[in-house]
Formats: sequence, structure tokens, C-alpha cells
Amino acid sequence: MKPAAFAYSRARSLDHAAELLASDDSARVLAGGQSLIATLNMRLDAPRLLVDINGVSGLDDVVERNGQIEIGALVRQADALRSPAVARAAPLLSKALPHIAHPAIRNRGTIGGSIALADPAAELPACLLALGGEVEIAGAGGRRTVKADDFFRGLFETALDRAEILTAIRVPAASANMRYGFAELARRHGDYALVGLAATARADGARLADIRLVYFGVGATPVRARAAEAALAEGGAGGLEAAVTAVASELDPDDDIHASGRTRKHLAGVLLRRVVQEMREAA
Ligand SMILES: Cc1cc2nc3c(=O)[nH]c(=O)nc-3n(C[C@H](O)[C@H](O)[C@H](O)COP(=O)(O)OP(=O)(O)OC[C@H]3O[C@@H](n4cnc5c(N)ncnc54)[C@H](O)[C@@H]3O)c2cc1C
Repeated sequence: MKPAAFAYSRARSLDHAAELLASDDSARVLAGGQSLIATLNMRLDAPRLLVDINGVSGLDDVVERNGQIEIGALVRQADALRSPAVARAAPLLSKALPHIAHPAIRNRGTIGGSIALADPAAELPACLLALGGEVEIAGAGGRRTVKADDFFRGLFETALDRAEILTAIRVPAASANMRYGFAELARRHGDYALVGLAATARADGARLADIRLVYFGVGATPVRARAAEAALAEGGAGGLEAAVTAVASELDPDDDIHASGRTRKHLAGVLLRRVVQEMREAA
């Protein structure tokens, strides 16, 4: 199928992008286009104006400062995967990125596009939440920062206002005592996951503390499994079993054509065992 007719403007700056977005209430930001163009082609959306932000400078840097790593919205997923700074300071992202689609899509798809789209089955939103990261936003009203905990609001719904631009994400830089775990189950490598899990924890001797477990593909947003986190934090021999039981009762995934909710709950427990083992075994 072909998209409905639309106008196209290439923004010269963030202010120009904000101005263009404010000029038409159907306008959409165009970043890598890997999801947006498919949506237009299927006529699931018909904006009158696309605002291309690819010419806006300063949105494709990776910078480490003040104990954080900042990744610009226009950094391609493939470039983030090749970045030594991302591998060193945000190893959870490096674990997750190879699971996003295929190389051709990662070559164009952007970090900011994935976070702004907020697909509930996507890897990066769950990682951002597991890392306790934040999102930088610019718009006509100025700039603001939103914590990942407050950013994902509903199905494909975020804290971004319609005429705002996500400019970067920031996450705490990795330190020696932090542990990161990532696993997902997809029918074929590169497909969206049936269920996935991104996790972080602080190693406290042999114990894992400050555990954050964030599932994707099980709800309208990335979902923190707080009861399972608490069960793991209590530790002891039964901690993991209690956490697997807790996950099955606190997650409430829907049935769909790919898997039943019951199957997804079971898979969530399988992933939990794998991810906890990965974090415990990390040197
Ligand atoms: C076949 C296929 C398989 C895929 N598999 C996966 C997968 O397994 N996992 C996964 O996570 N993703 C997957 N994707 C999606 C891919 O990762 C996209 O690149 C990503 O979701 C969107 O990034 P983009 O830069 O292409 O954004 P675009 O398609 O340009 O934009 C997506 C949406 O976000 C908005 N947007 C984009 N950037 C900004 C910004 N900076 N500020 C404000 N709004 C913005 C756009 O207006 C649009 O609504 C797949 C895509 C395809 C086509």
C-alpha cells in the first residue's frame, strides 16, 4: 500500500522543528522512519506533515559526563551497538540492541525513535526503565527532563506532548558492582519478543541488591515486576522460586495470535531464572 499524501519539511534546528510541529496538529516527527513509514503505508496514520529531524545537529552524539552516559536521539541503533562508550557505560543496551529487528532496520532506526514510539514489545524502553534513566525533551516551551519511571504512560503513549522532540536519553554509567541481565524469547531472531526481560542489580557480596526487573511484551508499557524484585531481595534459597511465583501472579499479559497470556507468564518465569543466573555469574 502507499501512504496518503503528506507534506514534508526538513527541520534546520530544534526550534524550527518545534515550530513546524506546532503548525499542524497532525504533524509527526520523522527520525529513522522504520516504524513511522510502515504505519503510513498501512494507513494506520495519515499526518498532513512530516517533520524530518535528521538535519538537526547535536542529536547524534554519545557523551559520558557526571557519572552518566547521554545518547542523542538520532544515534542509529547500529551505531550504538558499535559504540565502545555504550559497551563500557551502558552494557545493558549493548546486550539488548542485537535483538532489535535486523541490521538493515538498525542502520536507520534511532535510539530516540524507539523510546518515543514506546512499543510495549520493544527492548530499549524496558532497558531505559530498568536502568532508572531519563529522557531529555525539547519543545516550544523550552527543555525538560522526564524520568523513565514517569515517561511510559500507556499503549504507544508517553510523556511527550504532540509538538515536542525527544532529544536524548541518559542512564547512569555502569560501575564495577552493577550487574545487568537481558533475555527475550522470540519466534525468530529479530522478531518482536513474545516476552523479554531487562534487569539491573547491585552486587552486595554474593547477594543482589536494588534489583529492577522490567518485562516487555506483557502489557501496554514496559512493566516492573515489583513483587518479584522484593522476593529476590529477601534472598535465601527460596528467593528465586518465590520470585518466579510472584511474577506469574503480578503479570497479566493478554492472549494474542502469537501466544496466550498463560504461555507468556510461564515464559516470564523462564526468563527470570536465566537473567538472575546471568547477573549472579557476572564477574
Ligand atoms: C520489520 C521490523 C521489525 C522490527 N523489530 C523490532 C524489534 O524487534 N524491536 C524493536 O524495539 N523495534 C523493532 N522495530 C522498530 C525499529 O526499532 C524502529 O526503528 C523504531 O521503533 C523507531 O525508530 P525510528 O528511528 O525508525 O523512528 P520513526 O519510525 O521515524 O518514528 C517512530 C515514531 O516515533 C516518533 N519519533 C521518532 N523520533 C522522535 C523524536 N526524536 N522525538 C519525538 N518523536 C519521535 C515518530 O513521530 C513516530 O511516531 C522493527 C521495525 C521493523 C520495520
